[in-house]
Amino acid sequence: MKMKKLIVLMSLSASLAGFIPINAQQKIDPVATELWDPVPPVITPGDNGNPPSDAIILFNGKDLSQWKSKDGKDAKWIVENGILTVSAGAGDIFTKLGFGDCQLHIEFREPEKVEGESQGRGNSGILVQSRYELQVLDCYNNRTYSNGQTGSIYKQHIPLVNACKKPGEWQTYDIIYSAPRFSENGRVSIPAHFTVLQNGILIQNHVEVWGPTEYIGMPKYKSHNLKEPLELQDHGNPVSYRNIWIREL
Ligand code: MG
Repeated sequence: MKMKKLIVLMSLSASLAGFIPINAQQKIDPVATELWDPVPPVITPGDNGNPPSDAIILFNGKDLSQWKSKDGKDAKWIVENGILTVSAGAGDIFTKLGFGDCQLHIEFREPEKVEGESQGRGNSGILVQSRYELQVLDCYNNRTYSNGQTGSIYKQHIPLVNACKKPGEWQTYDIIYSAPRFSENGRVSIPAHFTVLQNGILIQNHVEVWGPTEYIGMPKYKSHNLKEPLELQDHGNPVSYRNIWIREL
């Protein structure tokens, strides 16, 4: 008798399941699709582009303690009134720490006094992992090759739009970067990717990096550490930076 009841119940529920739409089935037990672990850590967001509580501050307006020059000595760019400015001829500067996958916020200002044209106007750059350049240039009414303009992944990816503000105005870059992975034979197994917002506007949407930035010829990956320093470019123009922070992902 018991067995008979069970069989009847089973066949009834099986036939019901066959007729109930998937949406309705989900409504039966919402708990089944709830995930409670892991719990995301609580952080405090910053206001107006200021760093959230879990960010590493790379430039706080006071000094270059987080930076060095190529030869490992002190970085010799100009720090004044909370602003960092390229000192022409001093060379690129590098963070003392290395970074891999990250979210980077950086603010830049092109010189108010407009000088030069094309690549000669307000050129600098953000070389993530000391290799992959997000171009910094004054492209407000300044035509240059599209894959070399502001917001390009230099000579690789043209930005979706030109979101440049006027020279002399502060601009923001918010960068989501995933580092390349290399297999044991040194070949790239997963290429690097960039997503970039300039002044809050999406200009690079998860683009695949072809290899280290090259001025001449096509790029080719060479194996490197998962974490490498961030580099800012001295291209001879007095471009300024402030409020630089990074979150490791
Ligand atoms: Mg550059």
